[in-house]
Amino acid sequence: MRSIPFATIKEKVKEVCIETNYILGEDVIKSLQRALDQEESPLGREILNQLIENARIAREERIPLCQDTGLAVFFVELGDEVSIEGGRLSEAINEGVREGYGGGFLRKSACHPFSRKNTGDNTPAIIHYELVAGDRLKINFCAKGGGSENMSRVTMLKPSDGLAGVEDFVVNRVWEAQANPCPPIIVGVGIGGTMERAAFLAKKSLLRKIGEESNDGELAEMEKRLLKKINELGIGPAGLGGRSTALAVHVVMEPCHIASLPVAVNINCHSSRHGEILL
Ligand code: SF4
Repeated sequence: MRSIPFATIKEKVKEVCIETNYILGEDVIKSLQRALDQEESPLGREILNQLIENARIAREERIPLCQDTGLAVFFVELGDEVSIEGGRLSEAINEGVREGYGGGFLRKSACHPFSRKNTGDNTPAIIHYELVAGDRLKINFCAKGGGSENMSRVTMLKPSDGLAGVEDFVVNRVWEAQANPCPPIIVGVGIGGTMERAAFLAKKSLLRKIGEESNDGELAEMEKRLLKKINELGIGPAGLGGRSTALAVHVVMEPCHIASLPVAVNINCHSSRHGEILL
């Protein structure tokens, strides 16, 4: 068994919350630059220039990229030869969020669903666990903004709707979302499993770096086709028109019940903030 101290995890989580909210990933910046090179709409080009400039200011002045610093979402891969020394893993993650959002002056966005009373420290974090073989602990973090999250949908299509039905659902979802998820967006698509598994897959797909296509040739083709269809909608940067509505489409698929065809769409905004901890 390999033992990882509670304090190490807490410190790493604190750091990833702050750094991810201040520094936009290289993959996102490069894709914004690519979109700028291809954008024909003058207004669209201006918005893309502003987003790139915004990322530069946030990085250099160490301030959040966006006022919405998101709910703290984690995907944890815990090796079966790892033990946590000095406390529980969930507590280490939540404590790291508490300190990161406090120390980094990040907006706390977690609240009671009805009273809307803020929990005050951006906890509880949303934590998805997966047990894997080995002695490593991998934690992927995503600061998930409310505007893009609100545009997510899950549906249970009929098996006969097939591939065409899935693609129509995804493209219609983006069309209905219009400017709300802060385009240019990254569109996460989860297909198969059960209702909640499809939603999980859609969100997890957003962790993939922009520019990395699916390992599955059929899904890689689907991603390209969907990206083309979405960028032909004309929604554009900030919804003000143009061809850069999405920077990428990520599709993940698993087997499903013979009577079902679950599909989920989870959208990430241009402030696509994700970071990784490997211990
Ligand atoms: S959806 Fe993203 S870019 Fe828009 S306000 Fe929320 S975090 Fe910011």
